Amino acid sequence: MSQETIFTKIINREIPADIVYEDEKALAFKDINPQAPFHVLVIPKQPIATINDVNEENAHLVGHLHLVAARLAEEHGFAENGYRVVMNCNNDGGQTVYHIHLHVLAGLEMGWPPY
Ligand code: 5GP
Repeated sequence: MSQETIFTKIINREIPADIVYEDEKALAFKDINPQAPFHVLVIPKQPIATINDVNEENAHLVGHLHLVAARLAEEHGFAENGYRVVMNCNNDGGQTVYHIHLHVLAGLEMGWPPY
């Protein structure tokens, strides 16, 4: 099965996105349907379908996504008040794009649990 999703097209600049960060391993861009005043998706450039597909070889990328998320939160002034990072997995987790991504949500006081 091809691992290409809409996010590969964003990485390859085949479709536009509001990109806020890029390095050799990761890309971050604004969510097209924001659920908070600040809602960015941080993705690895290497396509990994779900968190279930993380293994010893690619696990460092998941750590890197968190590093990028924390840097973005700090840069945008959310580190002190707080923010949320979420990775949804498969149907019950609410995943719709099968290329792992960290949601970084900030700018409001969020509730818990998410149901
Ligand atoms: P998931 O539901 O898989 O956890 O999150 C997928 C996210 O990708 C959703 O929040 C959705 O709004 C966002 N999204 C889907 N397609 C696009 C797109 O083409 N561009 C951008 N910027 N975000 C997208």
